Amino acid sequence: MCLDLQALYQEIILDHNRHPSNFKKLDQANYVLEGYNPLCGDKIILYLSLHNNLIQDIGFQGEGCAIFTASASLMTEAVKGKTVEEARKIFKLFHDGMTTSKDNHIPFDKLSVLSNVKKFPMRVKCATLAWHVLKTMIDPVSDDLDK
Ligand code: ZN
Repeated sequence: MCLDLQALYQEIILDHNRHPSNFKKLDQANYVLEGYNPLCGDKIILYLSLHNNLIQDIGFQGEGCAIFTASASLMTEAVKGKTVEEARKIFKLFHDGMTTSKDNHIPFDKLSVLSNVKKFPMRVKCATLAWHVLKTMIDPVSDDLDK
């Protein structure tokens, strides 16, 4: 990868770390779950306002490293306003992107930033924490709910 792209990725991560999207407690959340990454000390509380199979709103609180915060921020942007089914697909794309050796597997410009993290195996759990918490929350939700 060229150095310019590397620098751009770095910039996006730092930017999301400084100004994370959806960094808030959702008072109207009907799904709340905590997650913890003991390797780094990253902590998250994820809030979902999920009705009629739609992620109407999402928020997170927590503390951790820049990669954790940026990844949680990007995740909330990626799934906000999406159906549970779409969120599952986005999770799968992200997960495949993080676990295959192919570069640029993740078809979202911003999320592809995160696939860069897999070059640093110690940090992969930082990037995947928020995503796995989301997956745990939406797994029991039926796609057919209220259709
Ligand atoms: Zn971390």
